[in-house]
Order: sequence, then structure tokens, then C-alpha cells
Amino acid sequence: MADLNTDVRYIKGIGEKKAQALNKLGVFSLYDLVSFFPRKYEDRSSYKPIALALDGESVCIRALVADTPRLVRVRRGMELVKFRAVDESGSVDITYFNQNYVKDNLSRGDSVCFYGKMELSGSRRSMVNPVYEKEGAERGVTGRIVPIYRLAAGLNQRTMLQAVRQGLDACVEKLPEALPESVRERMQLVQARYAYENIHFPADFGALELARRRLIFEELFVLSCALGDMRRKRVNDNGLVIARPEMEDFWGSLPFPPTGAQRRAVSQALDDMGSGRAMSRLVQGDVGSGKTLVAAALIWAMARAGYLSAFMAPTEILAEQHFSTLSSMLAPFSLRVGKLTGSMTAKEKRLVKAQLAAHELDLVVGTHALFSEDVSYSDLGLVVTDEQHRFGVEQRSALIGKGQRPHVLVMSATPIPRTLALILYGDLDVSIIDEMPPGRQKVDTFAVDESYRARLNGFIRKLVGEGRQVFVVCPMVEENEELPKPLKSAEEHTRELQQTFPELRVACVHGKMKPKDKDAVMAAFAAGETDILVATTVIEVGVDVPNAALMVVENAERFGLSQLHQLRGRVGRGQFKSWCILVSDNDSPEARSRLDIMHQTNDGFRISEEDLRLRGPGDFFGSRQHGLPEMHVADLGADVNVLQQAQEEATRLLAADPELRAPENAALRERVEKLFTKNAAGFN
Ligand code: ADP
Ligand code: MG
Repeated sequence: MADLNTDVRYIKGIGEKKAQALNKLGVFSLYDLVSFFPRKYEDRSSYKPIALALDGESVCIRALVADTPRLVRVRRGMELVKFRAVDESGSVDITYFNQNYVKDNLSRGDSVCFYGKMELSGSRRSMVNPVYEKEGAERGVTGRIVPIYRLAAGLNQRTMLQAVRQGLDACVEKLPEALPESVRERMQLVQARYAYENIHFPADFGALELARRRLIFEELFVLSCALGDMRRKRVNDNGLVIARPEMEDFWGSLPFPPTGAQRRAVSQALDDMGSGRAMSRLVQGDVGSGKTLVAAALIWAMARAGYLSAFMAPTEILAEQHFSTLSSMLAPFSLRVGKLTGSMTAKEKRLVKAQLAAHELDLVVGTHALFSEDVSYSDLGLVVTDEQHRFGVEQRSALIGKGQRPHVLVMSATPIPRTLALILYGDLDVSIIDEMPPGRQKVDTFAVDESYRARLNGFIRKLVGEGRQVFVVCPMVEENEELPKPLKSAEEHTRELQQTFPELRVACVHGKMKPKDKDAVMAAFAAGETDILVATTVIEVGVDVPNAALMVVENAERFGLSQLHQLRGRVGRGQFKSWCILVSDNDSPEARSRLDIMHQTNDGFRISEEDLRLRGPGDFFGSRQHGLPEMHVADLGADVNVLQQAQEEATRLLAADPELRAPENAALRERVEKLFTKNAAGFN
């Protein structure tokens, strides 16, 4: 008997090859299969009279096969099956390429439903390779709302559909009800079985909506419970008790006074570190708000108390940059600062590792290498990670598995709306740096269209002439022929710019390059050796180039607002007046009003709220940047209200049954426990 854990090979028609293709989509068990939700649906639920179908329209028709399907040889190796089908309104010529078996399946007089694209030439109508089902057979792909799935090589829609159908038949009865009855009733949500059946094979659009609502809620609810559970477990984590030092000793060493927000964040962290339980705190602040200083202050406090700190950056080049900034901030106190990155020689690494094991350093700055297995620390008191969204929740817990439980400070430059922060960082305490250091210049932002190109080029020439540097961001790496309007590709655009500006030095960096090459190009730009850097969004989390005074974003309508904000944060980091030009030829009112928000405000939190309002949370969950387990809600299109409700219900339930021990919560508990283990393999 099949159950939810049964391998997908169990399904008739799924052999080794197809199973492997399914595995690529993350589908291993029957449970995975039925949880693999359609990407979209095609409404084939109503039939159209043949004569009313428009040219190019995809329609379902119900017709009689009017003559005997015959095989026509067009040329060597190429045969067609042809016949005519009729209904009361008219007739259509039907042709199948490479599907000779159709000749044997259909006979004159059969009543058949076809779904396909109607083509009109004069008064003749034709359809090529329509899907069909004989009248009386069970409706699968015609006469109903049909699910369309994401595919991998070796799979087609029909295989997927049949596999899911069988999967549901085999185990829909066994689907556990993860939502407690009380929650389900209060939220007026349908039962699991109904939801899984109708998300794949909706009886009608009303049923689909009910299914969708329930499944989105369920996923966000399980996630909220899991994060709540992590938070609860953390309360029991014993942490080193660090006495609060006299912070003025540190602040006084700086060339500028800390902002109120920086003081507050440091103070909150010191409270945590003195409390006896281990800190897990997120410091969220816009680019340029001065998060590094917060980290430096805490590293200093740790060293005073006799403990070592580790600072982890997402890339080598950022590690280098932090190494030098932190070294100079801590220099007045003679702290010993080391570095550990993947590109160092074995000998260099060995030396640093020995120093770490012997506590001969006060701070080590590095990449993931800091937490590889062969590194051991003595007296590790604090772990700081920069740019949180590059690290998964699982990784955070892997870090803290090193030796005793150190305090953890996570820094993120991605302002996110409060509603999402609750979910994304549900297991962390949060400090928000909502104040910029004084004297920061606003980056003037303008949205323009192609007609502005010549002036833009003139502007670039002028700025570079003054000694400044320019970022140009494109949405993708290579030309993509599938898209209707050509988008600026980074490589192509680099060539164009080099032609426009033969006298300037133009370089290109994109995500498909090897990390080493990428770092080399970035480093050359940072050193002022190139004038214009064309990039894909790899620079989003990036390097400090105070001399860069202009950010140009091509096809700006393709980017999310928060992403544009991050990109804009790459300029205006030095003493120079800076600009951000958003180029877009999309003049739909929606695209215009989005870009207009960028012109109106530099406040990352406001921008993120707008972004969430305009796009819904699906986009946030869809991008894998946040480090949460893979979610399906992105496909289903969740809205903000459901997110809030799920969060509230999870909080309420956990208040009543913190460990989910009640028998009626057993199914939920199982889901919660599985959530973070399932995807853990993807992280290192
Ligand atoms: P973030 O990491 O938050 O993007 P950084 O820590 O890199 O920002 O700080 C950005 C710049 O602001 C740095 O050059 C830093 O020296 C400067 N800075 C930080 N705090 C202050 C402050 N209180 N007053 C003036 N300048 C500051
Ligand atoms: Mg930073």
C-alpha cells in the first residue's frame, strides 16, 4: 500500500528517468508530488462552437469526427494524420504531426473533445496537434480547468498531470490535517483533502480559490509555528554573561559621535549579552546607516571581557573590506585582528587556525571558511554575520554549534516591512537603525525613457571627466531571444558602451563569472582602474566605492523597488553628489508610479512597504535570498492579509501549547519539525 512517503517510482508511468526528472523539481515522495502545486491553470471548462472560435484563440470544442482519419506522407520520414471534425456550427481540419497512433484511436463518427489553437485562413478553420478526449471518458485535459506545472527536461504536462492524479488517488485519504480544527474554523478554511484535490483539479474557480487560500495559510502558519518554536528553544540557551563596559571609552575613540540609533542597537545587544541567555539579534538598517560600527563596538566589548569574535561576510572581497575597516576602528585599542578566507594559502590558513585555537586573536574576519569543520575556536564569544539574507536559518544554527553557544549578531541592509520581518526573522530579536549619520547626501533619482539616452551619455562623460565612476546595471547576462522586447543584457550593453565611449575604460561583471574573476573585476573598479562597471545584480550586496557617483539601471521596470533601493545604495557613499537614473521604456501607469516612489523617497522601509503592497509577499518568498525553506506560496500568490493572520494564529496557538504536545496538534508538530531538516542539505 502506498503512503505519503512512498517513492514517486510507485506511480505507473514513472520509471527511473522520469523519477530523476521529478527529483530535480524537488519531488521524491508521493507527498512531495501532491504538494507540487500547479504554476497556473488553463480554463478549458467551457466549449465553444467551432464557428465562433477566433483566429489564434485557444479553445475547447466538442465535435464529431466527420471522416476516417488518414495517414498522409508529406515527404520522406514525415507523416501526418488528417481528418475533419464538425459540430452544428461548422467544421475544422485537424492535423497531427508525429502522432500516427491517433489514426487508430479515432474513427469516423466518434464524439470527441479537442483543445487547441484555432487557426483561420479565409473561411477555413484548422487545428494542429490539439489534445483530445473521447466523449464519455473521464475528463482530464478538456472540459475543465486544467493545471499547468513547472517542468524539468524529460517531463511533459500530460505525464505530470497523470502522475499527480495517481498520487492523489493513492494518498489523499492519508493527508494529515496540519491545521488545528479551531484555527480552521476561525479562519473558515477548507479541509486538507479538499484543498489538495482542488488545487490540482479544481471543480470550478470558486473551489480553486478556497483551496488556494487554505494552502497559503497552511504554509505560512507552519512556518510561523516553526520560527516561534526556534525562538522558544533559544530562550533556554545559556549564554556567556558579559558585564556592560564603559562604552564612552570606545565611542570617544571615534572621529565622529555615534548616532542615537547606533547607541540604542549596541545597548540592546549589551542587554542581551548580560542576560545569561545567548543573544540572537538582527540589526536591520539601510545601506550606509553605520552597522559596521555597531559590530565594532560589540567586538570591542567582547575583547574587553576576554572573548574572541568572528565576523563573517558573504564574499571574499567584502571580507577584505571589513577586515580593513574593523582593523582601523579597533587599532586604538591594540586588538589583534586576523583574516580567514578561502583564497588564502594553506600555510596562511594554518597559522590563523592555530591562532584561533590558542585565542591569540581578538577578532577574525572571513567568509564561510570561518565555519568549516577544521576550524576550532577557544573562547568564541560573538559571531557577527553581515548581509543576513545570504545566510539560511539552518546556517545560523550551524554557526552556533561551534563549541559553546556564542552570542550571535546578524546584520541586514535589506529593510523589510514589519509584517514580513515577523515571519522572516521570527526567531530573532530585532534592532532597527532608522537614523542616518548626519550630513548624508540624498541620491537624486530620476526615471527616464530611451529618448533621454543621448543626454544620459553626455552626463556619464561629464562625470567621468570630473574623475567619478559609474555603475550600470542590466537585468540579465546574455541576450534572451524568448522575450518579446529585447532587454539590455550586461555583455551586449558593455560592448555598446565601449563603442559609445572608446576613450573610457568599461568593465563587466555578472553572476555567471567565477567568484575569483568577479572579485578581480570588482576590486579593479574599487581601485579606480575602470570608469564604468556594467553589472547584473551581483553588485547589490557589494563593495564600497566612494568615488562612484552615478547608478544607471537599465530596464528598471524589471526590478523590485527594494532591489532598486539596494542598487541605489551603491552610490552616494563618499563626499560626491550622486545620482540614480532609472531607464525604462515601459510607460504603463503602474510601472510609472512604482518608479516614481524611488524619486520621492530614500527611506528603505517606506520603499519596502510599497513594494510589498504592490507585489504581494509571493515575490519575497519566491526569491531564495531570505534563507527560508522553499515555499510554494510564491506560486499561489499569497497576500499580505493572510500572512498577518497566519502569524497571529501561530502566536495564539503557541501561547496555549508552546511545544505542540497536545494530541490534536501532532500533525502540525510533525510538519514543523520537518520544515528545517528537509532543506538543510542545500547549505554548507
Ligand atoms: P552599513 O554597513 O550600514 O551600510 P557602514 O557601516 O559601512 O554602513 O557605514 C557607512 C559609512 O558611514 C562609513 O563610512 C562609516 O565610517 C560612516 N559612519 C558610520 N557611523 C557614523 C556616524 N555616527 N557618523 C558619521 N559617519 C558614520
Ligand atoms: Mg555594511
